Amino acid sequence: MSANAFNIPCLDLTRQNQSVKAEIFEQFELVFNENAFAGGKYVEQFENSFASFVGTKYAIGVSNGTIALHLAMLALGIGTGDEVIVPANTFIATAWGVSHAGATPVFVDCDADTWEIAADKIEAAITPKTKAVIGVHLYGQPFDVDAVQAICDKHKLHLIEDAAQAQGSTYKGKQCGSLASIATFSFYPGKNLGACGEAGGITTNNEAYDTQIRSLRNHGMKVRYYHDEIGYNYRMGGLEGASLSVKLKHLPSWNEKRRAIANRYHTEITNPKIKMQVQPEWANSNYHLFVVTTEDRDGFLEFLKQHGINGALHYPVPCHLQKAYEHLGYKEGDFPNSEYLASHCVSLPMFAELTQEELEHTIKIVNQY
Ligand SMILES: *Cc1c(COP(=O)(O)O)cnc(C)c1O
Repeated sequence: MSANAFNIPCLDLTRQNQSVKAEIFEQFELVFNENAFAGGKYVEQFENSFASFVGTKYAIGVSNGTIALHLAMLALGIGTGDEVIVPANTFIATAWGVSHAGATPVFVDCDADTWEIAADKIEAAITPKTKAVIGVHLYGQPFDVDAVQAICDKHKLHLIEDAAQAQGSTYKGKQCGSLASIATFSFYPGKNLGACGEAGGITTNNEAYDTQIRSLRNHGMKVRYYHDEIGYNYRMGGLEGASLSVKLKHLPSWNEKRRAIANRYHTEITNPKIKMQVQPEWANSNYHLFVVTTEDRDGFLEFLKQHGINGALHYPVPCHLQKAYEHLGYKEGDFPNSEYLASHCVSLPMFAELTQEELEHTIKIVNQY
């Protein structure tokens, strides 16, 4: 086979979705026949199985991961005038949750090696207005929760886990999403556990958070048509819930396949021009993404492309330099590690159904570069 015959996507949803299509369509028929479209039985079934998967008392299904972050802020009483510390190198939605609550995101840099929120840089960002820190398990690799929690405890701040990318990742043997007092998930179709549609979730052991979030997501009501507070329509759909219940059963085996691919990338990519995310021994990633850095990123992407491999960028602009946050007054040079990552990152193909042939070709080409 000539190299040109390859056309390897960075992520291929079709292979996964086709493999569970029959199972999911069977569930869709039930949802359809019962008209259980908005919240309801199929969302509750997923909530129960996801809570037991993560190991928390509660899991609440919502419309997407951005809304999950917004609701977490509201449950913690965070609003106008408050500040929340957020890593500069994350998908922008981590910061949206803060802004949607009327609070201000305060960015901090990442560690140069793990690319996770730099625990030693958090204290300098704390002010009397700081209420919380959101840690992100970036690319599926857990951040150092104990180190960040210790700083939060010392300054009486809440810690929120943004586990949008970390379904099935573990930190010191415990599931991401069970480590802080509240955690948020995205079930966007491209995540390791992705709905057939938009969806998100919140996990917690705190009964008060659970009660309040359930009320807020459903028009601020506990009893139908009695509205105790100004609420939102942030429910998860029934079709989304049903598809997630099916896919959750496959998640552990899909994650193991990703780990096997990552293991081969780690051991067989030997090109000194390519650097990888450093993994502490307590971090067990689900490899949502496999990101590397290299000096001439554009040249590397082009080389991959010429050999039938599609790389991607996660993420090309750090949060503090996004136009949307121009008014916060950050400038280039504020967070050098995040800026370096943004301008040198390339995501290699990573999904459970990547074939041996595609994997071997990718490794060979990366080493040839
Ligand atoms: C995907 C993602 C979100 C947002 O989730 P949506 O379901 O797309 O709204 C939040 N944080 C991170 C880190 C993400 O990757």
